[in-house]
Amino acid sequence: MDIAKNIESIKAEFTSDVTLVAVSKTKPIQDLMEAYEAGQRIFGENKIQEMTNKWEALPKDIEWHMVGHVQTNKVKYMAPYVKMIHAVHKMKLLKEINKQAKKENRVIDCLLQMKIAEEDSKYGMTKEEIIEFLADEQLKNYTNVKLRGLMGMATFTDDKEQIKREFTLLKNLYEQLKSSHNFDVLSMGMTGDYKIAIEQGSSMIRIGSKIFGARD
Ligand SMILES: *Cc1c(COP(=O)(O)O)cnc(C)c1O
Repeated sequence: MDIAKNIESIKAEFTSDVTLVAVSKTKPIQDLMEAYEAGQRIFGENKIQEMTNKWEALPKDIEWHMVGHVQTNKVKYMAPYVKMIHAVHKMKLLKEINKQAKKENRVIDCLLQMKIAEEDSKYGMTKEEIIEFLADEQLKNYTNVKLRGLMGMATFTDDKEQIKREFTLLKNLYEQLKSSHNFDVLSMGMTGDYKIAIEQGSSMIRIGSKIFGARD
């Protein structure tokens, strides 16, 4: 695996208005360091303990993104350093992120996760739930979180038309909400579907295996 080369070839496929999150879950520190030396500064993880260990070991100019499902009782462990939490799916979680960020005197960027996949296993809110969420009066009190946009995961399938349909749903809701909520991040696209995601207007892709190789 030539990590530097992988990053370079992925980046050559899109313009600089798309942000690359290198999803390094399960990979050892030395692999992340290779990506770092190739200029990568944004890393994504999906387990808090693992992310914290890596944050402690690696240079402090790295932005850490929590891309996976977050349990409310675990927020405190990443509040001191996490830059962005991609998968906020309920108000109780946002409230806790705000509370823990306040203790650290920080503002944590958050995305709302929309459920776009047809399969049942993925977390996330429906379009209606997201609209309701954003209309909630409580939000204005949460000054230590910044809602920057939406995130979604398409169905794991070879059916490109289905993936495209699912990303289009997310993109349409994003466009609808963007100006009234000052959104600037649309996080969609992984190794198997990032090209479709970029065509559908993604501004942030989360790539793991194509950079670091397959996970066990
Ligand atoms: C693991 C993961 C990724 C990266 O997956 P790849 O298919 O290896 O690129 C992206 N987003 C989330 C939420 C993940 O859990």
